[in-house]
Amino acid sequence: MLNDVVTMDKIVSLCKRRGFIFPASEIYGGIANTYDYGHYGVLLKNNVVAQWWKSMIQDRDDVVALDSAIIQHPRTWEASGHLAGFTDPLVDCRTCKQRFRADHLGELECGRKPSKHPGEDAQCDLTEAREFNLMFETTIGPVKEAGATVYLRPETAQGIFLDFKQVLQFARRKPPFGIAQVGKSFRNEITPGNFIFRTLEFEQMEMEFFVPPAEAQHWFEHWLRERLDWYVRLGIDPERLRLRAHDADELSHYSSATSDVEYLFPIGWSELEGIANRGDFDLTQHARYSGERLEYADPQTGERYVPHVIEPAAGVGRSMLAFLCDAYDEDEIGGERRTVLRLHPALAPVKVAVLPLLRRDGHPELARQVYEDVRRQVKAEYDDGGAIGRRYRRQDEIGTPFAVTIDHQSLEDRTVTLRDRDTLAQERVPIDGLGQLLAGRLTVE
Ligand code: ATP
Repeated sequence: MLNDVVTMDKIVSLCKRRGFIFPASEIYGGIANTYDYGHYGVLLKNNVVAQWWKSMIQDRDDVVALDSAIIQHPRTWEASGHLAGFTDPLVDCRTCKQRFRADHLGELECGRKPSKHPGEDAQCDLTEAREFNLMFETTIGPVKEAGATVYLRPETAQGIFLDFKQVLQFARRKPPFGIAQVGKSFRNEITPGNFIFRTLEFEQMEMEFFVPPAEAQHWFEHWLRERLDWYVRLGIDPERLRLRAHDADELSHYSSATSDVEYLFPIGWSELEGIANRGDFDLTQHARYSGERLEYADPQTGERYVPHVIEPAAGVGRSMLAFLCDAYDEDEIGGERRTVLRLHPALAPVKVAVLPLLRRDGHPELARQVYEDVRRQVKAEYDDGGAIGRRYRRQDEIGTPFAVTIDHQSLEDRTVTLRDRDTLAQERVPIDGLGQLLAGRLTVE
């Protein structure tokens, strides 16, 4: 069922109100398309990344981990094609002095008349489109003029290709095998970002899967299914997910086939993740530019070949935005409206809230003991501030799947009420073994 309650404004406001995500440098008026992650935002982000790692290196045995540098040798970007080709066509308006993506004019607002698109008003005066590189430049060395120009990586993938030979040796792998990495990438994007959908710096979760050339199509299809499934396993409504194959004119210079996993965001269907068949483009290019042989030699048959590469490339922020939009709901309990994030328990920033019913009669003391006990197994939060209903609401809003309430009966028989965020069912369960019970309810199918 399509969720028509959620809007981007509601997500932005909830994220700010509860300290998930908010504009960066706010005391200076903010900075374009840049956000900071607060306490719950960091916990949610860590959980998303942990689930990605789990699917890559715990649930299978043909992928290894890597963490390569953000600033690489500048030749990297010559070889990869980014220096020459990683550009957006931009136009400037001589009247309003704003700069626009030439290929997005139909979605953008005129700088002076927001009801019109750039170029539509008689006073608009757009320049010819020029290609601008999206890579951020900086300089290594103490003197700017004498230093070497280097780039902040626009994708994590290239670091993986540079280390292909190393990993082949120390991980003792043979194709098909993958190298996975999570880390920050940087792009000088000028299109309005739609919150964390498009930011200047963002984390990527990328995996390069090296395969014998004849198996490329098989693995491409394998990773399409795998990656789509990952979102569904973590609770996203399959009706709001789809795969969209790129047309020939959309394909990147390195790709023979690409499909995007798209999600129905409140802004419409948009890319969540790209899955590309990169062929042997990257290894061949880096071999040519570096002079190193980047290929696989089979010790048994002596056969040598340059593996082909299948790449699932996802964004952490975009995934989080999809998880948040999909989980957002509003309903009514006892005549009172509540906002609830129905996040998968494995993703929820806090798994259980421990709440003493009263702030006297021994409730807080026992609740504190229960809290200290369960937090050894799951991320818990203790809250004794305000009416119980208000405390439930606070937890619903950040997506906490379980709440444990300590009352008079708890002091007598060491049981507590366990409340379920979604069904609102309350069950009486023993304090002993509570952490274990909760940990068991967090697993991903
Ligand atoms: P778009 O067309 O939206 O700019 P892209 O096709 O350039 O994206 P890729 O280069 O395929 O993106 O990057 C892989 C993933 O990294 C994207 O699917 C997205 O999740 C994430 N990503 C890319 N650029 C950004 C950005 N500026 N901000 C946030 N996430 C991004």
